[in-house]
Amino acid sequence: MKNSPVRVLLVGAAGRMGKTVLELADTDRDIQIAARCDLGDPIEPGMKNCDVAIDFSHADATDEICRAALAHGKSLVIGTTGHSREQRTIIKETARSVPVVFASNFSVGVNVLFWLARKGTELLGPDFGAEIVETHHKMKKDAPSGTAKTLAEILEAGRKSESKIPIQSIREGDIVGEHSVIFSGPAERLELTHRAVSREIFARGALRAAKWIVHKPPGLYSMQDVLGL
Ligand code: NAD
Repeated sequence: MKNSPVRVLLVGAAGRMGKTVLELADTDRDIQIAARCDLGDPIEPGMKNCDVAIDFSHADATDEICRAALAHGKSLVIGTTGHSREQRTIIKETARSVPVVFASNFSVGVNVLFWLARKGTELLGPDFGAEIVETHHKMKKDAPSGTAKTLAEILEAGRKSESKIPIQSIREGDIVGEHSVIFSGPAERLELTHRAVSREIFARGALRAAKWIVHKPPGLYSMQDVLGL
């Protein structure tokens, strides 16, 4: 017997990512957009009637989303970036009671870039410095991007040093998202670059995460967990 579709509450439905998720969900038989909301709408009513909420809105919505998920025991897929330390703590606390995928980037390519960055740091060792360059469209609200911050965390953990990885943020045109990690050593450079051509890659990854998370126990998961990387 075929499983019934995963019922999704989409938060930030009127935004660029929200619209892309709606378009893609329309063609996916395993997903049903059961409710949607945007700025000014209450989140709690939609949470009641879904299996999982996908959030592509604004970090200011985090508190309300987490409270509603806890009240109704629902899973969360959080794609929004730009959270404060307090908002990240709320997400971590929520994940003690419900399953949460929290990912600064849902693309398969970027998650492989995370893996390669970790491996690069490990293999190149302390003789190589590292920096990150990220470029996005002018409308992007946060800088550096959540993806660049995740990359920096990976590189800093791999180097086991106190020094921060420099991040250069460029905002121009309608660029969906580009991230480069540049390793510089004595007389050589290694550059790893990912270029997102369409927002569809993030929406596809978020829907994949939504289908995956509904079968998981409470916990904080990354997109690397979803992909098994
Ligand atoms: P956007 O500005 O086009 O859309 C955001 C939408 O959220 C808007 O419609 C806005 O009205 C709504 N919103 C704002 N505050 C809200 C609130 N408190 N409650 C409900 N809705 C609210 O932005 P976007 O380009 O769609 O990106 C949305 C978020 O997703 C950003 O944080 C962005 O960085 C992030 N993002 C993540 C990924 C990923 O793979 N994780 C990919 C792309 C974008």
